[in-house]
Amino acid sequence: MRVNLYSDTQSLPTAAMKAAMMAAELGDEQAGLDPTVDALCDRMARLLGKEAAVFLPSGTMCNQIAILTHCRPGDEILAHQTAHILTSEGGGGAALTGVQITGLPGEGGQFEVAALDAALRAKTRYAMPQVLVEVEQTANTGGGTVWPLARLRAVADWAHAHGMATHMDGARLMNAAVAAGVAAAEMAVGYDSVWLDFTKGLGAPLGAVLCGPAAFIDAAWRWKQRLGGSMRQAGICAAACLYALDHHVERLAEDHANARRFAAGLAQLPGFEVQTPQTNLVFFKPSGAGMSAEALAAKARARGIAFSVMGPRGRACMHLDVDQAGVDEALGVIREIVGN
Ligand SMILES: *Cc1c(COP(=O)(O)O)cnc(C)c1O
Repeated sequence: MRVNLYSDTQSLPTAAMKAAMMAAELGDEQAGLDPTVDALCDRMARLLGKEAAVFLPSGTMCNQIAILTHCRPGDEILAHQTAHILTSEGGGGAALTGVQITGLPGEGGQFEVAALDAALRAKTRYAMPQVLVEVEQTANTGGGTVWPLARLRAVADWAHAHGMATHMDGARLMNAAVAAGVAAAEMAVGYDSVWLDFTKGLGAPLGAVLCGPAAFIDAAWRWKQRLGGSMRQAGICAAACLYALDHHVERLAEDHANARRFAAGLAQLPGFEVQTPQTNLVFFKPSGAGMSAEALAAKARARGIAFSVMGPRGRACMHLDVDQAGVDEALGVIREIVGN
């Protein structure tokens, strides 16, 4: 693939990141003896303003363990109707914990307190216990949008006022922090649990860290053990995450600039509907140009340009393996395809 805009998950570890992995001090993570994993967890707890943290293989496991820890079978979670936990985790909430997730409406993958009010059930024996409110920062299929601080706080305050806990899916939390110029810990205020993925724009080969109060992380560790998420010399991967925190956070601004450049280029094509990007994801509908997103993606792929298709929309994802020249090359190919 000449330019891979399919997903920021497809970026490859750099030579310098691999060198950091090779140099990592290692031990048995499951026994609490891996110093590199410990260093990553300490750093993440501080970065996100929480008491404790646990290293997990993936973001999906962070979400599922958070749900297992916050909820019991029969409980209800309120989340946006496009939330990853609702659409993309294989029904994990239902299969593993036995929760029902109710999808809330709202623009750009975000919801307002009014939507929570509308979903509130009376505390009777007829209704499911409503125990958790979940937000995604950034909201992935909402367009990579950044929740404004005031809305995050209002949602968290509402949840706590109604006796519910709060969880933030921070798969791309650092994208949000860099784009808004707001510290990640500031964004996580009011959220009982929060996690960051290292395999999106941060470019590590695997790993995500779930943060929260010490008692919550103790309980999460129990689930990590039960699910087989306890690892051994996991520091070799935690080292990549530490490297990413040192070297790949500020550069996310380049991805955001590339996303704006790509969106501006697409917007010049007749019949293209382009959502203005706030971070590294660009969603667009080419249907006005007489071609479905799927048909365009197939033609582009044949010419070495990959992007993903989500229903009628295409999604192009910027990351550290794509530079400005790559963006221009992808635009040129798409321009030629729809011009013919
Ligand atoms: C990618 C993603 C996840 C899952 O993370 P994995 O590391 O791929 O398991 C969860 N939530 C959102 C919003 C994501 O984009």
